[in-house]
Amino acid sequence: MQIPQKIRYRYIENQVLKIFTKLPAEKRRLPVNMNDIVGLRNDCVITTYQEFSVQFKIPVSKVIKLNESVSGCLHYDPESRHYIIMYNKRACEGRKNWTQAHELGHVFLGHSLMIEGSHIAEDDIYFSRYPLLEKEADYFASILLAPPPVLKALHIHSEDEIRCLCGLSGAAAGYQYESLLRSGNCITSWDHDMIHIFQSFISSYKSKL
Ligand SMILES: [Zn+2]
Repeated sequence: MQIPQKIRYRYIENQVLKIFTKLPAEKRRLPVNMNDIVGLRNDCVITTYQEFSVQFKIPVSKVIKLNESVSGCLHYDPESRHYIIMYNKRACEGRKNWTQAHELGHVFLGHSLMIEGSHIAEDDIYFSRYPLLEKEADYFASILLAPPPVLKALHIHSEDEIRCLCGLSGAAAGYQYESLLRSGNCITSWDHDMIHIFQSFISSYKSKL
């Protein structure tokens, strides 16, 4: 697989739609549960630096050093074709959700198959070596955790509502809110499909207002 020339927005949106379509109806809700998403794959597990530290009797500081990242990383074994996502449990809730969703982006978008090596760390050289793949994983995380069509259907009016509803950090919620304001009222077929599969959650959320 070749590294794409530009961000594949439509492809990423369709991947996210496919993911939510595969989830049982009662799990199509916000905040998104990362275990539900990873449960759709039989080639990927998520663990924390702290669990790894206990299991292999290595200090967490060394696990961070090995993974070249304080926040998280993705390992891919080309032989078994299996992924391991690792993240730091000590980060704040919003940061942890973002890290896991971002790493799942690399997995679902096939990024490990495009680059040399089997390891993507989040705080290092990979940002500069593969900026487009990082942007794709960020876009995947943003629409997975805070799907704009669902936020619009819920008539979300502030970044604080996005932060609470979607389990994002304040900074990520602010970015999502600004992007929501910029997107206007135009409804695409993807918007329509996302609203359709979230209909039960949207109705139940509105009934509690
Ligand atoms: Zn990344």
